[in-house]
Amino acid sequence: MCVKNIELNLETIAYQKTTPFCYSCYKEAPTGTCKACCSDDLMRILPGSGCEYGTDWVVKELLEENLDSADISDSFELMIEDCYGETVKVGFLELSTVEVMKDQDPISWDIAKSEYIDGLVEDEQLITFDNGSTHYWIHDVENFIEENLEIEEAC
Ligand SMILES: [Zn+2]
Repeated sequence: MCVKNIELNLETIAYQKTTPFCYSCYKEAPTGTCKACCSDDLMRILPGSGCEYGTDWVVKELLEENLDSADISDSFELMIEDCYGETVKVGFLELSTVEVMKDQDPISWDIAKSEYIDGLVEDEQLITFDNGSTHYWIHDVENFIEENLEIEEAC
């Protein structure tokens, strides 16, 4: 599934799991037009979460509730250990490569880590919906879509 399709599918799920909601009347309007005031300027209501305009917030909320965000620190450390070894010799000491690098140059460490994350996003292994504060593994998001997308049956 490409990123564009993932976004579209998540938007569809967000529509399926929410109901149009007229904030002025404080009533659900399942048809898309408020029966009381005839407005079609409607929010979406997600049971248990509240109401707001648009679906971006619904997508974020659904993913937060249903998926664990990717623990990139762990996989970055593993990648470093794969490349440079688990331990490194400093004089007569055998030290953890990761710990030495973090201690000695935390800034370079953070830069390398964010480049690693950018690489995974470009490779379409990771995806973010909030400009990089939270990342999810794309395969987790794909599983979520498969489990949640209700395919409308063709007649
Ligand atoms: Zn209304």
